[in-house]
Amino acid sequence: MIDLEIDKIDNEIKQEQLALDERISALADREAHIAEFQEKITQMEKDKRTLEDEMTDKIAHVRDRQSKMMQVQTGREQTALLKEIEDAKKNAKENEDKIMELMAEIEKLVSQVEEEKMLLKGEKTLVAEETEKVRDTIETINKGKKTKSAKRQKQIKEIQDNLLKKYDTLRERRNGLAVVNVLQGVCQGCFMNIPPQQYNMLLKGDKIFECPTCQRIIYHHSVEETEQA
Ligand SMILES: [Zn+2]
Repeated sequence: MIDLEIDKIDNEIKQEQLALDERISALADREAHIAEFQEKITQMEKDKRTLEDEMTDKIAHVRDRQSKMMQVQTGREQTALLKEIEDAKKNAKENEDKIMELMAEIEKLVSQVEEEKMLLKGEKTLVAEETEKVRDTIETINKGKKTKSAKRQKQIKEIQDNLLKKYDTLRERRNGLAVVNVLQGVCQGCFMNIPPQQYNMLLKGDKIFECPTCQRIIYHHSVEETEQA
């Protein structure tokens, strides 16, 4: 019974640990996900810097063209230069739009990462608590197991001691014959009948009995009975 109890508890611990392992691996997944996000953000920030550098060049180009306007003489040259300036401005505006778009995306990702980090932190705390709890449970159960095992050892020793004492006493009182067989319900020490219910239990063979008449320790050996029958 105690062994079965211990097996059941061991199984429960195993289940708890399995669930915990799953959660820990989910944590690792979440961490990998965050790392992926952060890498993406780093790349986008790099792209943004490139665009910003381009932007500086484009603005410089526009300024350069604008200053050149002063030197232009003919209307045709002026028209051409004006168009160039307009194009450069348009180009710079597109560039700026791209930068704004990227900034918005980065902002979104950063807040997503922040949220993921918060979740991760909470989950980590929970898993740490859970781990602690499982460890405590295992410790308590192991203590209980030790106590139970010690108690069982004590019980076995008591039974053995009692049996030995009984055996010695019986040997003294019953002409050296302390343990006897039972054949067809009859005690082979005193040849009295064993009550049928007790005899049936004896036949199952998982318990020690004594003869109700002579108190000898009785057992049942089916081979001898078969031989007799
Ligand atoms: Zn007897």
